[in-house]
Amino acid sequence: MNRRLLGVLALLAAAATAPLAQGRGGQAAPPPPMNIPKDDARIGKLKTEAVADVEAMKEHTQQMVDSIFSFGELGFQENETHRYVVDILKKNGFTVEEGVAGVPTAFMATWGSGKPVIALGSDIDGIPQASQKPGVAYHDPLVEGAPGHGEGHNSGVPLNITAALAVKKIMEREKLPGTLRIWPGTAEELVGTKAYFIRAGLFKDVDVAIFTHVGTDLGVSWGEAGGTGLVSVEYSFRGETAHSAGAPWRGRSALDAVELMNIGWNYRREHLPLEHRSHYVVTNGGDQPNVVPRTASVWYYFRQTTYPGIKGLWETGDAIAKGAAQMAGVELLPTRVLGSAWPRHFNRPVAEAAFLNIREVGMPEWSDADQTLAKAVQKELGGREQGLSTRVPQQLTGPVRDNRGGGSDDIGDISWNVPTITLRYPANIPGLPGHNWSSAIAMATPIAHKGTTAGAKVQAMTIIDLLTKPELVKMAAEYFKEQTRTQKYEPLIRPQDTPAIELNTGIMEKYRPEMRKYYYDPTKYKTYLDQLGIKYPTVKK
Ligand SMILES: [Zn+2]
Repeated sequence: MNRRLLGVLALLAAAATAPLAQGRGGQAAPPPPMNIPKDDARIGKLKTEAVADVEAMKEHTQQMVDSIFSFGELGFQENETHRYVVDILKKNGFTVEEGVAGVPTAFMATWGSGKPVIALGSDIDGIPQASQKPGVAYHDPLVEGAPGHGEGHNSGVPLNITAALAVKKIMEREKLPGTLRIWPGTAEELVGTKAYFIRAGLFKDVDVAIFTHVGTDLGVSWGEAGGTGLVSVEYSFRGETAHSAGAPWRGRSALDAVELMNIGWNYRREHLPLEHRSHYVVTNGGDQPNVVPRTASVWYYFRQTTYPGIKGLWETGDAIAKGAAQMAGVELLPTRVLGSAWPRHFNRPVAEAAFLNIREVGMPEWSDADQTLAKAVQKELGGREQGLSTRVPQQLTGPVRDNRGGGSDDIGDISWNVPTITLRYPANIPGLPGHNWSSAIAMATPIAHKGTTAGAKVQAMTIIDLLTKPELVKMAAEYFKEQTRTQKYEPLIRPQDTPAIELNTGIMEKYRPEMRKYYYDPTKYKTYLDQLGIKYPTVKK
């Protein structure tokens, strides 16, 4: 499909087609840029103004980034974050619909009217056991065992708010028609909501979705992205209790089925495609050893680079679960889908527009303190001491070739329903393992603050492109039509599935009282580092 799509795209582009050269690192050299509409003098001036306004708002951006960092909430339990963000949006004239798609911590905020409708989204939840003092280059949790922003999802929604506020001012004065939407990637670490947002029709009238995601560079890509999509399924088994020593033959262990399923899957793993990823955790392993476990559950992520591939893994998982239940003499209960994500595909014309703005904005200026922290963290984690990136990419990244798999984001579901791009911005330190306390270190420091501001500038400029160039919105729609000509979106969630909003309740109940003591108070302290009394950077001698 990729190759055929590329062919059609080449026709779409006003530029002449060029044969695809095989590039390094699994990337094809991208075809020449499309003929996207250029800035005239007026648009250039509006962009300059928006960029200056984003810069002027950098203190507010920092406060938002630091506040959400300090809440450190896990997916579906983003209560403080939700209240905080919704309050800011309402104060700034947005109409906010809360609890959308059956998810209490999800919302859709709207400002403006008419076309185009531009949806600005970003993930917002944290990572288990990632509590970490910012600016400290070694493991030093704020609250031992508690969650934290060990990916950097505390920065993206602030980025979108700052960009939207800058553009809104211009829209009001220039009387530009258009609707801005701001929405959170609730429970993204569980890939738990975006398919439900689509099901609820939240993106029905959206022309373009610009998603932002924390990264270590300022970048964007188009076409099929690297990484995977996935389905997240919980398998539960039911047997019968008995005295484990007195009458074990009277019982049937549901835990046996869980263990047999895992053994079965791990044998099968060798014969699965190399680019697949799969992993599990046991969510219920019984109550106590002297009672044969009546119920037990195991939670799987099945990841693949294509939709049929994901479905195939899921069928294999179901078959192994049935076999395990038979071997253990227990019942396999109806399965539950806890999350899902389509593989991602990004819109070319919008990516090209964003890329020009990236070249314009450039990377933030890192201080010696920023680089010292980054290198100390990289050293601590046993990586190359490369410091922070200082240059923006020379070329826009095209479709991935030879995709070897990797992570997922349920923005994939949005990207198969409306023209979508993901803008990466440099708020974190390169070369870290991810989903780890080390990825929280930079996320309430000048690195995150400056990276988020840089991203907001690109975001504001790209929104202005879409508002002032109807031709660009049209090209985005045409590209999307080609993208979806042969591959149609079919949700991985089934009609009976509902958002798994009870997830993480227990963890947050356990840790929130202690975490609350460390919430950031911007009325008293200029930064969160100030509040915590952390010298920046704090590195090992
Ligand atoms: Zn993420």
